[in-house]
Amino acid sequence: MLKGKVAVVTGGTRGIGFETVKTFCENGAKVILFGSRKETVDKALSSLKDSNMEAEGYFPNLNDYKEVESTMQEIKEKYGHIDILVNNAGISQKGPIEELSTEDFEKIINLNVNAVFNVSKAVTPIMKEQKGGVILNTSSMVSRYGQPSGIGYPTSKFAVNGFTLSLARELAPFNIRVNAVAPGITKTDMVAALPEAMIEPLIQSIPLGRIGETRDIANAFLFLASDLADYITGVVLSVDGLARC
Ligand code: NAD
Repeated sequence: MLKGKVAVVTGGTRGIGFETVKTFCENGAKVILFGSRKETVDKALSSLKDSNMEAEGYFPNLNDYKEVESTMQEIKEKYGHIDILVNNAGISQKGPIEELSTEDFEKIINLNVNAVFNVSKAVTPIMKEQKGGVILNTSSMVSRYGQPSGIGYPTSKFAVNGFTLSLARELAPFNIRVNAVAPGITKTDMVAALPEAMIEPLIQSIPLGRIGETRDIANAFLFLASDLADYITGVVLSVDGLARC
């Protein structure tokens, strides 16, 4: 589905991002994954190699625009084009508002929002020049309903939705599609490590009767990145088994 495409996936070293990297590789894309540190990038690349897949890795500081821009230019020069960007790197937050510092709040916004701006801005001239591309963002089900604790996280994901809908309008005349996927609770390492007693009530609250797998989210990214979604832009696609919490 992605034969001949070049894709950049931020936060591609584990969880949803790593699954997306694998899915894109399986579907014929040349994938460049971004991580936060050399060690985690190397670990992800060697794990791909063990499965006979190949990718390339970088670890730019996503909050340093100049560094992001030069990395994207380097990739463009090496491969000639960047067709797909998946803004997936993200962190979450817990705790009541009185216990969160300004720095805690800024940390979330810096990665979940400002980094999405930086990487999207850096790829835009490349996609405009090649007359097309796809930018995909990772939102969350909390971007629709909020969450009762850790205010920075839902705030950041509401911003991701606004960014997605607006950039889709701005870039549609350039044949650049911008969409987001809003996962529900998804079985990454963190969720898998939760005790059964915590997971069971969560499952009970999901109408489709199970927690999301990383593959569910990667498949949504695959569809939206592919030519099958050629006429879809400005969409925030829920992939959550109808979880509404
Ligand atoms: P994860 O913690 O397993 O992976 C996060 C990724 O982000 C890693 O590759 C990590 O290297 C990268 N990252 C973290 N901090 C970084 C930084 N400062 N600079 C650059 N990269 C950094 O997380 P996940 O659960 O796979 O989540 C991926 C995305 O999906 C996030 O945007 C998250 O908000 C969203 N999401 C996850 C769930 C869930 O239940 N797992 C639900 C809804 C949305």
